[in-house]
Amino acid sequence: MAWALGYVAVMGLLVGSFLNVVVYRVPRGLSVVRPRSACPQCATPISGRDNIPVLSWLLLRARCRHCHHPISARYPLVEVANAVFWVIGALRIGFHPVLGAVLVSTSILFALALIDAETMTLPRTLVYWGVGLSALGLVVASLYSREIHPLVLALVSGAGWFLVFFLINFASPRALGFGDVRLGGLLGLILGWWGLGEVLVGFFASNVLGVLVGGTLILTKRRRRDQPIPYGVYLASGTLFALWFAPALLSHWHHWPQS
Ligand SMILES: [Zn+2]
Repeated sequence: MAWALGYVAVMGLLVGSFLNVVVYRVPRGLSVVRPRSACPQCATPISGRDNIPVLSWLLLRARCRHCHHPISARYPLVEVANAVFWVIGALRIGFHPVLGAVLVSTSILFALALIDAETMTLPRTLVYWGVGLSALGLVVASLYSREIHPLVLALVSGAGWFLVFFLINFASPRALGFGDVRLGGLLGLILGWWGLGEVLVGFFASNVLGVLVGGTLILTKRRRRDQPIPYGVYLASGTLFALWFAPALLSHWHHWPQS
């Protein structure tokens, strides 16, 4: 078990390193495959030995090997955060076939949240990749576990969440952007596999978080009242919260009258 978790952590770091590329390039319409990463200051391509997650950043003392321009701590932080998210996912779900779908969707939600926080957009290609890869992972898990019920629930709840957001967007495009509508489909898909309780916890957690954080930012005058909020950040956070903690919360709820 410890070896398997170590493996998940290392893979999480490597994928986290790729997420740094995704978060920088996708909103700018650049390819995530080519060219290879380069120093933003001197444009020297980053060699393999300088591209090891976290370790290279520490060994280089947060500076480019060639021009000594500082490298932001954000890069290793994103790598570590993704690895932590993957380990939490593995601890929570265990080594079940559905773990692949959970880890992939976790990373795509993390990347979308970072992009939304920075650019106030949710690039549609990335959401579609999220939907496609998560659905594929869920189909594989369904075939492997010979259970069709969770897959059907996931598809229905993905379509349902999309529809609810679509109607809100239709009624008031200013209140909810279409990026959030597409993202709603992905959230419903991921949470629906586990059940309606998880979907509801994810939905409410997102909005409670949005109101708390958004309200605090307005009250402390760090955000104007008429300024749009990056709702995708809260939706992604609420979904991860539900994925990790909803079963514990829901079992408390079920046992509540007796205890
Ligand atoms: Zn440089």
